[in-house]
Amino acid sequence: MSEPRRRIPRTDRLLADPRLAGAADRLGRDLVKAAVTRAQDRARAGEIAPEEVAGAAVAELPPAAVSLTPVINATGVIVHTNLGRAPLSAAAVDALTAAAGNCDVEFDLASGTRSRKRGQGAIDALLAAVPGAEAAGAVNNNAAALVLAATALARDSEIVISRGELIEIGDRFRLPDLLESTGARLREVGTTNRTTAADYSAAITDRTAFILKVHPSNYRIEGFTAQASVRELAALGVPVVHDIGSGLLAPHPLLPDEPDAATSLRDGARLVTASGDKLLGGPQAGLLLGEAALVARLLRHPLARALRVDKLTLAALEATLTGPPAPVARALAVTPETLLSRAERIVAALAARSVPARAVRADGAVGGGGAPGVTLPGAAVAVAEALAGPLRTGDPSVTGRIEKGELLLDLRSVDPADDDCLVSAVLGVSA
Ligand SMILES: *Cc1c(COP(=O)(O)O)cnc(C)c1O
Repeated sequence: MSEPRRRIPRTDRLLADPRLAGAADRLGRDLVKAAVTRAQDRARAGEIAPEEVAGAAVAELPPAAVSLTPVINATGVIVHTNLGRAPLSAAAVDALTAAAGNCDVEFDLASGTRSRKRGQGAIDALLAAVPGAEAAGAVNNNAAALVLAATALARDSEIVISRGELIEIGDRFRLPDLLESTGARLREVGTTNRTTAADYSAAITDRTAFILKVHPSNYRIEGFTAQASVRELAALGVPVVHDIGSGLLAPHPLLPDEPDAATSLRDGARLVTASGDKLLGGPQAGLLLGEAALVARLLRHPLARALRVDKLTLAALEATLTGPPAPVARALAVTPETLLSRAERIVAALAARSVPARAVRADGAVGGGGAPGVTLPGAAVAVAEALAGPLRTGDPSVTGRIEKGELLLDLRSVDPADDDCLVSAVLGVSA
């Protein structure tokens, strides 16, 4: 063994370093030991000097005891499924923290007895946001909401659905398979591109439990097309369940083709289901909104217990609904001019350190969460394509998108508070 190698401090000595001992209290001994081992390995490989091992181990420590890495989403896709969909608002994060310990989620502090109002704050917030709904509920995600609706309402009977709406959401999750797994039968009507109210009407029998209308949230059928409106379907005399997908609670001026809960209920849908972590901008959840008797039937079904949300989801959902606009809403609303001036500021900061970059116009997107085909004109910082990998694995991690041989860091999906982090991330990998 060469002399420097013999001088690499031993693990027990390193773990006694006050900085690392303190980290072990916070992160657990295993994570700190792993950081120590990596630093020792680097010294053995001659990358760092033996005296630098303790400092390197401290630098290697993860910020939290979790293997998930925070990412700056510079893809331009606001609701990016692979990056955790909607980033939570500061208000929602505070609510998570407030609920993280013991809290009165099922307890009445005045009487000191069990409360039956589990999740009432989130439900009240949903009802305030959608006054047209008689009742509301929340389950684990929209897929759970659909399973619950199919199980509670259509087991051993039929769901009438258009062939144009038999969708795959992603990662091989196919809605028809999910629905049939409950024991409900699907009665497919119409064709891929055209389904009329008369097609539905002809399929309705005494075995029909409900009509399911599904928003094709990740593709569009264009050309020779027809689909029946909620209003037309509601006139057919069987309940209409509308899976609106993205979770818009009211119409959005920038997304005129995106269905919303308020309009759907006004048009006669008896139950609306949606995701909490797409355009609503909240935690993963499945929202149920509609007729009181129907919502109650779902929530009283034994399966509901297996799909229920925890206190953390309830807390984050309530704060998303009652707090200031969530990051998703803000990202949607920001103007191309604002994005361009942010891009120019970042480019100037990079140029000051001799890192080549250009401010360019770029089109962002809502994402798998909704509004297929809608482009959101904005701006990006274009840098060398070769930076893509180092930026992804850097600290902070940044994910952009590659277009025409350049890496675009699209600011549509970046929180303005992260612009300076973006600059330092690029500087960090441009050395
Ligand atoms: C995203 C989506 C789902 C699945 O929602 P999850 O909350 O991810 O379970 C179901 N239906 C539609 C139309 C969707 O867009």
